[in-house]
Amino acid sequence: ANVTQVDDVAHIAQKIIDSFASPFHVDGRELFVSTSIGITLYPFDDDNLDGLLRNADASMYHAKEMGRNTFQFYTAEINRRTTKRLALETALRHALERNELALYYQPQVNLKTGKITGAEALLRWQHPEMGMVAPLEFIPLAEETGLIIPIGEWVLQTACAQAQAWHLSGYRGFQIAVNLSVRQLQQRSFAKVVAGILRQTGLDPRQLDLELTESLLMQNTDSALAVMDELNSLGAIFSMDDFGTGYSSLSYLKRFPIDTLKIDQSFMHDIPGDPDDAAIAQAIIAMAHSLKIRVIAEGVETAKQLVFLQYHKCDGMQGYYFSQPIPAAALTRLLENGQRLKWHRPVKAKKSTTHAGAKKAGEKKRRIGI
Ligand code: C2E
Ligand code: CA
Ligand code: CA
Repeated sequence: ANVTQVDDVAHIAQKIIDSFASPFHVDGRELFVSTSIGITLYPFDDDNLDGLLRNADASMYHAKEMGRNTFQFYTAEINRRTTKRLALETALRHALERNELALYYQPQVNLKTGKITGAEALLRWQHPEMGMVAPLEFIPLAEETGLIIPIGEWVLQTACAQAQAWHLSGYRGFQIAVNLSVRQLQQRSFAKVVAGILRQTGLDPRQLDLELTESLLMQNTDSALAVMDELNSLGAIFSMDDFGTGYSSLSYLKRFPIDTLKIDQSFMHDIPGDPDDAAIAQAIIAMAHSLKIRVIAEGVETAKQLVFLQYHKCDGMQGYYFSQPIPAAALTRLLENGQRLKWHRPVKAKKSTTHAGAKKAGEKKRRIGI
C-alpha cells in the first residue's frame, strides 16, 4: 500500500531473491532454493483480487520460464524499464572498481588573452557492452542510490591530481572545475574530504573551482552555506553553473561565496540572432561584473557568438568552438602546442552596448576576417 515508485517494488523483489542466495543447512546437508516472483500492480493491472492473483501467477510462471531466480512484472513495459534500470544500477556499482569511469576535460579560455586558463572535468563511463554512457544517463541514478558519494570523490581525486600534474609541467595556476551534486554537499564531512584530497595531491586550493547549480543551493541553503564557508576558508572557489535557467537570483549571488557565473548554454544557441537571449546574456555579464563576479559562457559554438561575448566583455568561454571535452592526454597536447583562441585582435567595446551595436561589431569583425 505504501509503494510510491515501481522501482521500489523491483528492489524489494531483488532483496527477497538475494536473501535466498545462500544455502540452508538441514541435517548436515546444504539445500538450495531458487526464487521466482511474479508482480502485478493495483490499480494499473486490474482492480479486483481475482484478476490481480491471476496476473501475479502468470508473471511468476513467466519468471520461471526466464530461468528462475528472477522477478517479472505483469506489464511488459514496466518489466523492460525496471530490468534495464536494475542492470544499469548493478553495472554502475562495479564501474568504479573495474576502472570504467574516466574524466574528459573541456578547456576554458580567457577571452582577452585567448589562452587556456583551465578546464572543466566531465565524467564519462566506458561500459564494456553499452559503450560510452553520457553522464546525464547515469548521474541521476548515482544520486538516487548514493553511489555519487564514492564516484564524486573519485572525480575530485582524479581531477585534482591531473590539475597538479599540469601545474607542475609548467602550466602554472591551471584551474580545474569540478561539478558537485547535492548529495556531496549534504555530507557534513565534505569539506574534510576535499581538504584531504588537496593535501594528498598537493594542488593549491585556489586552483580548485567547484561548480554548483542554483537549484542545489535552493534546496540546502543553510547546510550548503556552512560547507561552502568551510571550503572557502580552505581557499577553493565556486562557480554557479547553468546560470539563467533557474531563479537567477541576485540575493543568492550575494549570499554565497560565488567567484564565477557560467551563462547557461541555452542562451548561446541563438546568439546573436535572438534579441531576447542576447539581451539576457548581456544583462548577466553586466550584473555579474557589477558584483565583481567573473563570467564564463558555456556552449560557445560559433565565431559570431564569440564576437558577441568579446564585445560585451565576457571573461571566459567554454565550448565546441574551441574544443569539445577531450581526454587528459589530448589536452596536454593542446597546452604543449600553445593552442589559443583564433582571432585577429581583441574587440574594443564601443560606447553603445546595445544588441544592434554588437551585431554591427560582429559584421565588422567578419569583414576583417574572423
Ligand atoms: P554541465 O556541467 O552543464 O556540462 C556542460 C555540458 O555541455 C557537457 O556535457 C559538455 O560536453 C556540453 N558542452 C560543452 N560545450 C558544448 C557546446 O559547445 N555545445 C554543446 N551543445 N554542448 C556542449 P556532458 O559532458 O554530457 O555533461 C552533462 C552534465 O553532466 C554536466 O552538465 C553536469 O551537470 C553533469 N556532470 C558531468 N560530470 C559530472 C561529475 O563529475 N559530477 C556531477 N555531479 N555531475 C557531472
Ligand atoms: Ca558544469
Ligand atoms: Ca553548465
